[in-house]
Amino acid sequence: MLDIIKILPSEVSNKIAAGEVVQRPSSALKELIENSIDANSTKIQIIIKDAGKNLIQVIDNGKGMSKNDMHLSFIKHATSKINKIEDIYSISSMGFRGEALAAIASVSMLEMESITDNQNGHFIEINGGKLLREKVSNIQEGTSIKIKNIFYNIPARRNFLKSNFVELRHILDVFHRLAISHPEIEFSFINNDEEIFYLKGESLKKRIVSIFGEKVRENLIPINESTQIADISGFVLKPEFSKKSRSNQFVFVNKRFIKSQFINHSIFASYNGLLKDGYYPGYFLFIDIDPTKIDVNVHPNKIEIKFDDDQNLYSIINSSVKHCLGIYQVSPVLDFDKDPSMDISYDQVNSQPRIPAIEINSEFNPFEVFNDERVNNVSYNYLAPNSKLNFEDDNNQNLKIFQILNKFIVSTNKSSLIIINQNLAHQRILYESFLKSIFENSANSQKLVFPIELSLTKKQLLLYNKIIDEFKSIGFDIIVRNELMLIESIPFGIEKNNVEEVIENILNEEFNTSNDFSASDFFAKRLSKITSIKTGQKLNLDEQEYIVNNLFSCKEPNLSPDNKQIFITLNKNDIEKKFNG
Ligand code: ADP
Ligand code: MG
Repeated sequence: MLDIIKILPSEVSNKIAAGEVVQRPSSALKELIENSIDANSTKIQIIIKDAGKNLIQVIDNGKGMSKNDMHLSFIKHATSKINKIEDIYSISSMGFRGEALAAIASVSMLEMESITDNQNGHFIEINGGKLLREKVSNIQEGTSIKIKNIFYNIPARRNFLKSNFVELRHILDVFHRLAISHPEIEFSFINNDEEIFYLKGESLKKRIVSIFGEKVRENLIPINESTQIADISGFVLKPEFSKKSRSNQFVFVNKRFIKSQFINHSIFASYNGLLKDGYYPGYFLFIDIDPTKIDVNVHPNKIEIKFDDDQNLYSIINSSVKHCLGIYQVSPVLDFDKDPSMDISYDQVNSQPRIPAIEINSEFNPFEVFNDERVNNVSYNYLAPNSKLNFEDDNNQNLKIFQILNKFIVSTNKSSLIIINQNLAHQRILYESFLKSIFENSANSQKLVFPIELSLTKKQLLLYNKIIDEFKSIGFDIIVRNELMLIESIPFGIEKNNVEEVIENILNEEFNTSNDFSASDFFAKRLSKITSIKTGQKLNLDEQEYIVNNLFSCKEPNLSPDNKQIFITLNKNDIEKKFNG
């Protein structure tokens, strides 16, 4: 047999490596920014077009590269950061494998301009890993790298990219992580010609506030603990600021963002007893540890790392977080900037409370529709559609309904027993009515006497802008000014006290693009999930009837918005089978 093994040409092996290092535009951006940080830049500008699909550019004022180094930089295993194998165990820079630029260059059209001490600036252009042209450049400082048409030569991968919206969210995640771990660096971020972030070099606390909005300020509890194994610093968020998602959890080891379940668990355990069920604490935790005590080399994206001494680290983190939470509980004002909005002037304290000009029904409860005269004249579009059970007999008056396990509603018709999951059923009812309101623009809303004020992060604002129309059409009246959201009217059926949670929840969710993507659908699904009655809730008879009646007047009573089965039926045959085996 002939020899069949051959060494892959470098373009091919680089393309394969690219699959590991560069999964999507955000991973390419991460590599570029990390290189700029390693080059000691104090200013980094990021320019993105079409969620990075057409352009990712990073311009820095770092130490730059010589013409020769520029040529070497896009060759695999070209790195200025390690010389010998031991170096990779004590590495403190962000990159060190020397494969990022090579990988990126092999799957994109790349332009690089750089200047370093006492040399002319230089420009090179590389397509699919091949040098296309080069010339002198008049760049004044640092390095600028443009990645155009990422994956242009791997159509399968390009097609695999998600919507611009989703890709931009990944990009913002990467940007947030790097901006938080390097608050001393000035960042500017331009998305489709609009500067959406300008962050001057600042303290960590200010950086967190610049990114997550003013509201986070009063919730930051500083943490500072120095031990033989590691130093812990940063901020944890007050338990009141916990979320139903883990989106506010940031852990950095030696300034590198990492994901670690055991660290998350150790912090979660410190909050024991302080969190509502299903809520997760937020934190910006920096762990400084001797680089020889960790292995950052286990994951190509270096997002997971191994610790030599994870058991001790677990206890150190756990007790540090407990400690700072403890201090906060004893003396809540400890070291936090005071929230000016909490200050009430002397005049106000002594004055009579203002009488609201508009009367609202703050006691509004959708389930009272059936027995409350006051609200019977109002038409509740999505709360009480006309309904008739779709059962064989129409002897509904005597329908027996009861609840079991605070989870299911049991009902019967002539020949079957029906067991309905109350939460899923209510989701379906709300989902269809929200969709209806969105499409018909027909919701009823109630004006709030005192508008609700929410401060938004850039990310939330971005999502809000996508679904403004949906918010309007179901009855929200919202003004956004300087990242501050003023909610002036809310839909009937949503309690005022829940509005903040509802909005935060919607604006923190990822769009799920694997399902058919539509903003209205996303919105209606989210909203119905959040506002539906939950498992564990005891329902009175009216409420149970409301669910049963309205479920069966839905277009699709069988499945929840997430395609879960809402009810099961047991007919005579099913029951007899159970007896006869
Ligand atoms: P690594 O960062 O792992 O060394 P990369 O492929 O990311 O590998 O980069 C290769 C080399 O190119 C780096 O080691 C560095 O010397 C040089 N380089 C890349 N980007 C920059 C930059 N923005 N400024 C200065 N040098 C850079
Ligand atoms: Mg690098």
